Amino acid sequence: MTTLQTEVLVIGGGATGAGVAWDAALRGFDTILVDRRDLGEGTSGRFHGLLHSGGRYAVKDPHAATECIEENLILRHIASDTIEDTGGLFVSTPDDDPAYGDRFLQGCKDTGVPAEEVDVAEVLKREPRLNPRIKRAFTVPDANIDAWKCIWALADGATRHGARILTYHSVVALHRDGDAVTGARLRNELTGEELDVEAGFTLSAAGAWAAEIAHMAGVEGVRVAPGKGIMIAMNHRLVNTVVNRCTMPADGDILVPIRTVSVIGTTDIRTAHPDEIPVTQEEVDQMLDDGETLVPGFRDARALRVWAGVRPLFEDVKTGDTESTRDIGRSHAVLDHLERDGLKGFVTMTGGKWTTFRLMAQDMVDVMCRQLGEDRACRTREERLPGSEDGETYQLGHRLRVRERELQDEQLVCECELISRSRLETAMRERGTANLDDIRRNLRLGMGPCQGGFCIYRATGMLHAIGRQDGPSAAGSLVSFLQERWKGVWPILYGDQLRQARLDDWIYQGALDVEHAPATAPVGAAPPEVREAAADGLKVSAA
Ligand SMILES: Cc1cc2nc3c(=O)[nH]c(=O)nc-3n(C[C@H](O)[C@H](O)[C@H](O)COP(=O)(O)OP(=O)(O)OC[C@H]3O[C@@H](n4cnc5c(N)ncnc54)[C@H](O)[C@@H]3O)c2cc1C
Repeated sequence: MTTLQTEVLVIGGGATGAGVAWDAALRGFDTILVDRRDLGEGTSGRFHGLLHSGGRYAVKDPHAATECIEENLILRHIASDTIEDTGGLFVSTPDDDPAYGDRFLQGCKDTGVPAEEVDVAEVLKREPRLNPRIKRAFTVPDANIDAWKCIWALADGATRHGARILTYHSVVALHRDGDAVTGARLRNELTGEELDVEAGFTLSAAGAWAAEIAHMAGVEGVRVAPGKGIMIAMNHRLVNTVVNRCTMPADGDILVPIRTVSVIGTTDIRTAHPDEIPVTQEEVDQMLDDGETLVPGFRDARALRVWAGVRPLFEDVKTGDTESTRDIGRSHAVLDHLERDGLKGFVTMTGGKWTTFRLMAQDMVDVMCRQLGEDRACRTREERLPGSEDGETYQLGHRLRVRERELQDEQLVCECELISRSRLETAMRERGTANLDDIRRNLRLGMGPCQGGFCIYRATGMLHAIGRQDGPSAAGSLVSFLQERWKGVWPILYGDQLRQARLDDWIYQGALDVEHAPATAPVGAAPPEVREAAADGLKVSAA
């Protein structure tokens, strides 16, 4: 069996784990980061896209609000290329108590969140689709952040400082030597091969799965309540500013414009297991109704895709539980298992928010340094990530500008997301993956209105042509991609998206008959049970 050696093993390749690997590598630790799937496939790739200003927590959770605004400012500096500075609004809709606005303003003042009341008529000029009956409006420095761009920049930065990134490697056991954790047994999910990592320190950043990892170390009493939330992407930017309802945090009260779409969310429902997060029709209907409150006519707009994620909400069994996950604090919890359980070489991080991942990583690596007696300062406040060296934030229209420059020389593979052939080919070669879904996350391939309808057969042909896959495995990649997309489309089949789904169906089932293509499962595909469920969906669409 292969054995790898490292000073630090990081479990979990979400925002937190990637942030921890970046932080540890910058402090000069030899680091390995592992994830059971691709980077950002857990909650971090399924979130709402909001870089919080802290306004949302200003009244209810002042500590979280202050953390958010501080981290918001730091991330704008170190990860500028992944952030679009849309600005944010808090608005009192006709269903909200306008007096809450005063508490909101006071809360922002107390927590350091810059907020200002603005003229409603001006706001409606700026955002003409907003409910014309809003009574008050406040500006805050909300923004959006591109999950995968940021996580891959963290991973890239860590790699440049010597870290090794192992995707599709599950931790199946933790090794213990007396009162110390000494590493982990991994399973390569692509080959089935097992390998050992001998690590001086093991840092668990497994989010909603943190309790499972703690259990592997023999630690009991760590409980993470998975709080499910659903979000719906609408096919264009109904607003250009992040819009929050000015009320206590509730369901469906934020609309985030990100890239070419806008995303309404979210719910918060306790679920039994982080891998079981089905989307129900009732949740979809509630979300569309909530959208109407912010933007009248919301239901008539075209919904592109729905998905769900799970909040890793830490519950300390010693201090008692709460049943509603929205009431569990959004701050993070770093568990020093030496202090808590007498176990050396092992720290757990859970809870928190995307916006605060850098701080969480810093806290976690600080705890490790303390245990090791090492005095190595954190550098992630100042050090810019690869791609963000010039400090420029992402500008909407960037891809179009690039596209217009190369109009005559380049074929366009994905019209919705303006992805050229050379860009896609480069990504396929550099990622070293033949899984189209992995490439989707890097380039946003197939994420526009046709949900892959017109680009995925072209991308499949390219995979085959550049020699990454033989015919059956390329066909397997294609089917797997379609099944993944279908999971997010079927709960919102109405209006134009239903027409689009029928067209896609004619292309793939009618013209190409993909269901009967001699396909093998692609590397890194969803597990068999997920594939089967999705395949059933595909057949329903063909009926
Ligand atoms: C619906 C919803 C909307 C949200 N919106 C926002 C928002 O707009 N703004 C914001 O700031 N925050 C938001 N959050 C919170 C935020 O998304 C999460 O707090 C954050 O993404 C958690 O990141 P993480 O890295 O800790 O966990 P994850 O991203 O879940 O990463 C954990 C990783 O561990 C891996 N893993 C699990 N088990 C194993 C194993 N055995 N071996 C190897 N790897 C393993 C998983 O594959 C996963 O990739 C939202 C959360 C939800 C649910």
